[in-house]
Amino acid sequence: MNILVVDHSKVFRALWKRLVANAGHEPIMVDDGAEGLSVLKSRHVDLVCVSLTLPDMDGVEFCRQARAMRAGRSVPLIVLTSTEDKQARMQAFEAGATDIHPKTDIEELFNQASRFVEENDNRVSGRVLYVEDSSVVAHVMLRILEGMGLRVDHFKSAAEAFQAFEPETHDLVISDILVEGEMSGMGLVSKVREAYPDKARVPILAMSGMDDSTRRVELFRLGVNDFISKPVIEEEVISRVSNLISNKQLFDQVQSQRRHLYDLAMIDQLTGLYNRNSLAEFANKAFSEANRHDFPLSLILVDIDHFKKINDTHGHLNGDAVLAAVGELLRDSCRSEDFAVRFGGEELMLILPHCELEDAEQRGEQLRREIETLKPSGITITGSVGVTARPRGTRVSMEDLFRVADQAVYKAKEAGRNKVFAVAAESAAGETVAG
Ligand code: GH3
Ligand code: MG
Ligand code: MG
Ligand code: MG
Repeated sequence: MNILVVDHSKVFRALWKRLVANAGHEPIMVDDGAEGLSVLKSRHVDLVCVSLTLPDMDGVEFCRQARAMRAGRSVPLIVLTSTEDKQARMQAFEAGATDIHPKTDIEELFNQASRFVEENDNRVSGRVLYVEDSSVVAHVMLRILEGMGLRVDHFKSAAEAFQAFEPETHDLVISDILVEGEMSGMGLVSKVREAYPDKARVPILAMSGMDDSTRRVELFRLGVNDFISKPVIEEEVISRVSNLISNKQLFDQVQSQRRHLYDLAMIDQLTGLYNRNSLAEFANKAFSEANRHDFPLSLILVDIDHFKKINDTHGHLNGDAVLAAVGELLRDSCRSEDFAVRFGGEELMLILPHCELEDAEQRGEQLRREIETLKPSGITITGSVGVTARPRGTRVSMEDLFRVADQAVYKAKEAGRNKVFAVAAESAAGETVAG
């Protein structure tokens, strides 16, 4: 950042120079107004701090002249005063000052000033979908947008643009309202909002030469986030575009952090299965639906055989790899309505809505066979499987079914392991045997 300081006081300039340089910015120090204006004309400046009293002109006059220059039109101008003179403050604002500060606490002043520079740093990265049929306007806009560091997909017709729209890749849609072709800019806005209702967060900036307030209200109703009139003012485009894009990216960041936190809270990191915490969320819902509508619901419990010995023989890390592999097997076996849960250490569970006991028993048997042939990290493993289902016309909880399945696993272990026991839930004793 280039920070221009226009001040007659040597002491003050020295203080500034150190602060600005310490913050990693380039300090440009000048003594009077004329020199300051000539720097502004000849080189790029990101921020100007100018004293209200200068040898050749006052800070108010400096602001006025700077604002009249092309290079000074949009640069932040901070005026520094050593008086509390209200009138002077008013005059400075009127002359185009961005902010006015007392000279007393220079560090605080510098902090404030750097915030202006940061906020004024309009380089953003992102991808824009842009519709404009006028080559002249498009030429200007592309220069501005690409100058900001954006990638732009430009189309002359709204229909083509809609074809190319990807809510996952585009950070902003900019559309001219009056465009050639069958679809208007309004049409594009409503199509984008209709087609991706949950992607409503991709902001839309509408552009039009008509400054018609009724139409503008209509645009906002359709889902436009911001509006800009033509002919465009470069600084306005830059500020609006960078605001829209930064908000969108901030929102994306929050969303992905939320997903990450959710995963941490609900997903077991080793197996990728849901963890026990998640049962409250999913299982209760599945059970109350099955109870209410009398839908079938089954539960399969898989317990890896002699897992302690696997750990002892092959090491804990290989034990982890075994668990991860069996977890993946269970996940792959799931239909969209099933839940695979790591219930305990090496006890894995499947909750199968709309699945009858016989079908669940077959799935249990298939899992048993797959585990037997899996050989994760070259280790031969087996599992004991307990299967049960909610009996028709009864109310059961997850705990009810779990208890029955756990007893079935126990029987499978007793019967020599690597077996499937399926037990109807109404009588834990009246089992059917398979495997
Ligand atoms: P059984 O055939 O009767 O089920 O015998 P088992 O050894 O599999 O059963 P037991 O319940 O006695 O031992 C389970 C072992 O699982 C003990 C524990 O150290 C191990 N274990 C639990 N969680 C993990 C884990 O995350 N990683 C590894 N590597 N081992 C685990
Ligand atoms: Mg047009
Ligand atoms: Mg075990
Ligand atoms: Mg166990």
